[in-house]
Amino acid sequence: MLLACDRDNQAAQAKGQNPPPSSVSDATLPTLTLPSDAGPPPAFDGNRAMQYVKDIVAFGPRPIGSANHRKVEDYIISHLKQDTVEEDTFTADTPEGKFSVRNFIAKFPGTKDGIIAIASHYDTNYPLRNTSFVGANDGGSSSALLLEIANQLRSKQREGYSVWLVWDDAEESIKPDTEVPFASDSLYGIRHLAEKWQADGTLKKIKAFLLADMVGDADLNIDRDLNSTPWLESVIYEGATRLGYQSHFFGRTNQVTDDHIPFKERGVPCADLIDFNYGYNNVFWHTPQDTVDKLSPKSLEIVGAVILETIRILDKMDPLPPK
Ligand SMILES: [Zn+2]
Repeated sequence: MLLACDRDNQAAQAKGQNPPPSSVSDATLPTLTLPSDAGPPPAFDGNRAMQYVKDIVAFGPRPIGSANHRKVEDYIISHLKQDTVEEDTFTADTPEGKFSVRNFIAKFPGTKDGIIAIASHYDTNYPLRNTSFVGANDGGSSSALLLEIANQLRSKQREGYSVWLVWDDAEESIKPDTEVPFASDSLYGIRHLAEKWQADGTLKKIKAFLLADMVGDADLNIDRDLNSTPWLESVIYEGATRLGYQSHFFGRTNQVTDDHIPFKERGVPCADLIDFNYGYNNVFWHTPQDTVDKLSPKSLEIVGAVILETIRILDKMDPLPPK
């Protein structure tokens, strides 16, 4: 993903990105009257999710086109044997040639008309393919998180919207951002999926698109993202507050270009759950320092439980705010 503006991140600003207009970045989230919620907090096994991160990282770097990438695909699929899985496979034309790209969508049907999609990319950065970069946080943490969410959704009757979990491919740029602009050389998998779902009519059923990216940092501070839909971020913040995790959310404001953008551009309410300050001044991001020792099971549990709580609130919101 790319940071378009970040008042705190000198490294990002050094890349020539623009600071946000202060009037926008300082805007508060809308206040919503949300339905109350009973029952125990959602279950999410942070230790099991952490084991999935370790398994994914153990394959080594997993850029598109690599044998490791294929192994991670097989790994993800092997955990979804009991589920209904759609595959979206196509050939991406990139500055480094043609690559086979595959998105996987596990579908958990609900009783309400509409879909909540939750996405994570699973590839690692292509320009770093010949380094020891394994993307424990960047691609690993969120892909593992979705596997554990699948465990929690599986075999349970859903009283609410259908939930579709999306492991998307080729989020990372193929050429360094200094050579080819990020916007035209990234998000290959999710752009294809958004176009496909627009063409076949699926898109209009998607009530919310939640994206998880870099969610495992032991020092967890999920950004408020100015490219996300404010009312949906309000629901996430309420979910975090109900679980007592609000101090990990939205203390910092960013504007992030990430896998939610193709859905945002098509009018789908979107939220990017990302902690884009990974190590002091984001120093571990896109470096071989992005390893499992920087992550914690608790952070995975916090984000996983807040996503599940957010779904529980969305299930009871009728109607949802307009896009
Ligand atoms: Zn990345």
